[in-house]
Amino acid sequence: MNDILVIGGGIIGLLTARELLHAGSTVTLIEMGETGRESSWAGGGIVSPLYPWRSPDSVTALATWSQRAYPALASALRDETGIDPELTANGLLILESEELTEALAWGERHGQRIEVVDDARLQETEPELGPRPPRSLLMPEIAQIRTPRLAKAARRSLEKRIQLREQEEVLELLVEGGRAVGVRTAKGAVKADRIVICAGAWTAKLLEQLGSPPDIEPVRGQMILFYAKPGLVHHITLFNERYIIPRRDGRVLLGSTLEHTGFAKTTTAEAKEELYRAAIELFPFLRRTPIEDHWAGLRPGSPSGIPYIGAYPDIEGLFFNAGHFRNGLAAGPASARLVADLMLGREPIVDPAPYAMNAERS
Ligand SMILES: Cc1cc2nc3c(=O)[nH]c(=O)nc-3n(C[C@H](O)[C@H](O)[C@H](O)COP(=O)(O)OP(=O)(O)OC[C@H]3O[C@@H](n4cnc5c(N)ncnc54)[C@H](O)[C@@H]3O)c2cc1C
Repeated sequence: MNDILVIGGGIIGLLTARELLHAGSTVTLIEMGETGRESSWAGGGIVSPLYPWRSPDSVTALATWSQRAYPALASALRDETGIDPELTANGLLILESEELTEALAWGERHGQRIEVVDDARLQETEPELGPRPPRSLLMPEIAQIRTPRLAKAARRSLEKRIQLREQEEVLELLVEGGRAVGVRTAKGAVKADRIVICAGAWTAKLLEQLGSPPDIEPVRGQMILFYAKPGLVHHITLFNERYIIPRRDGRVLLGSTLEHTGFAKTTTAEAKEELYRAAIELFPFLRRTPIEDHWAGLRPGSPSGIPYIGAYPDIEGLFFNAGHFRNGLAAGPASARLVADLMLGREPIVDPAPYAMNAERS
């Protein structure tokens, strides 16, 4: 008999499995494809909400906890696996001058460093930049993580310590007398004491059989990647809802679209063109830089972006950790710790009430 079944092997499922394993549980993770190949692969990896002062406090709480946890997590994964997830504190530059007051007040309230940057400093620190508002915001401590490598490292660190079942879709939850007892896959029943659903954009589909699934739906995001030289873009840079992320090797990502197109994970020529225009407006040198890749991923969209973390009402032994929308990387470590706290009866790291299935999300 398994102690705990984790359903879904994106970054949320992988980090949840890691937390539970470290707490001494016997863990099985079931993934319908390969681990870390869906939204968690497609994501840019900014370890912060995009305009953080616009986020609900419940998202800020998870992001702040995660920002503090990432350096130790990234170095532990690197030591355990030899794969460096490239946590890099480039800082987040926000070319936005209309919300300075709200942003600075938010920073003060949450202990987050935010500096106002004038045009002269912008010229000095980001010389290739196109648009130059008279005043911008810089959050110098914000980092990014290289998402495919983070998931690969997390998988590698788990593969010999948990039972990892890939290419196996969970078709049904098995519930007996108000208690979750396991799941059914194409290969048969898998029994467990407790189950945690980390199925990203597919979570509501999976929980439909229970009658009142959480309000999680796929929101497609497309992104393009430029093969640039290192040293041309220094900060994660946000302008008009689009952002640039410079990787250590010089590659530059530009994201992302927000599209309600169901489970279609296809890319479109229109989005590529639109992202390209945003990229060359932001950093004109990109006009002379080849596009190396273009992809799409399905974010697990939820109302106000507040994830669902906790126990499923009225079914003993069933938990969920899903619906992180645009902030699964930014909030992943805290979400994994919180759900493990709740499953294991430990003192929770943050107040769990805002993430409960029935909590108000508007
Ligand atoms: C273009 C883009 C840019 C983004 N940028 C950022 C960013 O900069 N910062 C940030 O914090 N977030 C970002 N995100 C959001 C982030 O990627 C997601 O919030 C996060 O990856 C969600 O992780 P997850 O594990 O819940 O979902 P996923 O990574 O999608 O994993 C869910 C897994 O569950 C599996 N699964 C589903 N159903 C079943 C089933 N029935 N049986 C077995 N397995 C199942 C799926 O195959 C999948 O592997 C971005 C997303 C996109 C698309």
